[in-house]
Amino acid sequence: MARPCPCWTACARRWTRPGDRGVSAPKDFRRDLHRAADLVADYLEHVADYPVLPKVRPGDVRRMLPAEPPAKGEPTEALLADYRRIIEPNVTHWNHPGFFAYFGITGSEPGILGELLAAGLNVNHMLWKSGPAPTELEETVTDWLRQMMDLPPAFVGHINDTASMSTLLAIAAARHRASQGRSRVYGLSGAKPMTVYASDHVHSSIDKACITLGLGQAHLRRVPVDGEFRMRPDALEQMIAADRHSGHQPIAVVATMGTTSTTSVDPIAAVADIAEREGLWLHGDAAYAGSAAICPEYRALMTGLERCDSIVVNPHKWLFTPVDCSVLLLREPAVLKEAFTLVPEYLKTAETGVTNLMDYGPQLGRRFRSLKLWFVIRSYGVEGLRAIIRGHCAMAQRFAGWVRAEPGFEVCAPVPFSTVCFRATPAGTPEEQDAYNERLLAAVNAAGPVFLAHTKLNGRFVLRLAIGNARTTERHVRGAWDIIRHTADDLRGPTPG
Ligand SMILES: *Cc1c(COP(=O)(O)O)cnc(C)c1O
Repeated sequence: MARPCPCWTACARRWTRPGDRGVSAPKDFRRDLHRAADLVADYLEHVADYPVLPKVRPGDVRRMLPAEPPAKGEPTEALLADYRRIIEPNVTHWNHPGFFAYFGITGSEPGILGELLAAGLNVNHMLWKSGPAPTELEETVTDWLRQMMDLPPAFVGHINDTASMSTLLAIAAARHRASQGRSRVYGLSGAKPMTVYASDHVHSSIDKACITLGLGQAHLRRVPVDGEFRMRPDALEQMIAADRHSGHQPIAVVATMGTTSTTSVDPIAAVADIAEREGLWLHGDAAYAGSAAICPEYRALMTGLERCDSIVVNPHKWLFTPVDCSVLLLREPAVLKEAFTLVPEYLKTAETGVTNLMDYGPQLGRRFRSLKLWFVIRSYGVEGLRAIIRGHCAMAQRFAGWVRAEPGFEVCAPVPFSTVCFRATPAGTPEEQDAYNERLLAAVNAAGPVFLAHTKLNGRFVLRLAIGNARTTERHVRGAWDIIRHTADDLRGPTPG
C-alpha cells in the first residue's frame, strides 16, 4: 500500500480550498445545510396545513420553471427560495397525516437523517472494497429485519430500490434454477415456455417481471381467489397440472402477504406444500404487510412464510424508512449470484470471503440505503416499531367499525392489517352505485385534508383507506370519516330530478 504523502494534511487543505472548482466554500455549505435543515423541519411541522393533494393542473409546474438551464451558477438562496415556492407546495404530501391513499408511508426523522448522511458520503458499494461499511451494514440490518420477522438464519438479505426490482430478481433466480443455468447463456430460445403463478389480486410488478425477463405476460397465470380474495390452492394445482400437460414448464409461484387491493393474505402454507411438491420457486410478496410480521400476532397470519425461497418487504412502505428501500431475503443467495455474477477486469479485487453486492443483479452501482434503515430501527427500537404498526391496525379496525355502523355504507373486504375497503350503498343499479362512489371519492379528495384511493373488487368501485404514516393519529382517521360522511350527505342531498 502506498504511504500517505507526509504533507497530507496541508495538501488536503489545499485541495479543498474555498471556491475551488465552483464547489461552495465550506463555511457557506454549513450555513446552507442549516437552512435546508430548517426547511425540512418547518415542512414536517406544518405539512398538515397543506391540502394532501396540491392544487395544480398538469403543466402548471413546468410553466413556473425556466425552459433553459442557467449559464452561470446561481446563489443557494435562489435555489432554496424556488424550492419553497415551486416545489414544496406542488408535491403530493406523502408525509401528511391525512394521506390514506395507496399505502401510506413515512419519511421519519431518523430516516431523513440517515438519508442526509448517506448523501454526504456519496459512497457506491458495488464492491466490498468500494464500500466496506455500507456492504457490511447492509448485511447486518437486513439480518436484523430477518430476525424481526422471525425468519430462519438461512435467509440472507440485500437492499434494492423497490419491490418491483426485488421481485424481478426473485423470478430471475427462479428462471436460472429452472433452466439449470441455460437461460443466462442462451436466453429462452428453444426452451419450453415457462409459467409463473400468482393470485388474481397479484401486484402488477409480477406482470412486469415476466415481461422484462422474456417469460411473457401471458405466461403469468392468474389463480382465482376465494371469497376473501386469497389464492385458491386447489385452482393453483389444477393450473400447474394443465400447464405441464400442454408442454409448459412451471417455474415459480408468487404468494402475496397483503395484496394491494384488500391486503388479503394468500394461504402460504398450502401454497408452499404445492410449490415443494412441484419443485417450484416460492416467492413471498410481502412488500406492504411484511413490516407487520415484526409483530408476532401478525406474523402468525403468515405461518409458512419461512418456507419461501425469496421474500420481499419494503421498509419504505410500512417501516418508516424514506423512499427508496426494499429488502429481498433469499434462502439461497447463491442462485441469484450464479444468475448474474460477471466480473470484468477493472472490478476484480483481492478480498476473498466478502460480499460484493454487484453480484446480485443487473445493476452495478447502488445507493447507501441501509444507513437510514439502521437509524430507523435503532431510533424506534423493535418495540417502538411494533407499537406504531399496532396503532395503525387498531385505527383501521375502529374506522371499519364506524363504517359498519353507518347506514348506507359497507365494508367490502376483511381488514387484517391497516387498510379498509368500503363503499357507500345508495339505492340504484350497481352502475349507479359505482358512479356515486366515484363522485364521493373525488369530492372527499377535493376537500383537502385527506387523500384516499380506490380499487375494484368483483368489478365494483370501492374506496380504500390505508393507514401507514407514523404521524397519523386517531384524530386524523376520525376527521377522514367525518369528511366522508358529510360529503356523502351532501351528494345525497336534494338532487335535481
Ligand atoms: C407496493 C407493492 C409492490 C410494489 O412496490 P414498489 O416498491 O413500488 O415496486 C409490490 N407488491 C405489493 C404487494 C405491494 O404492496
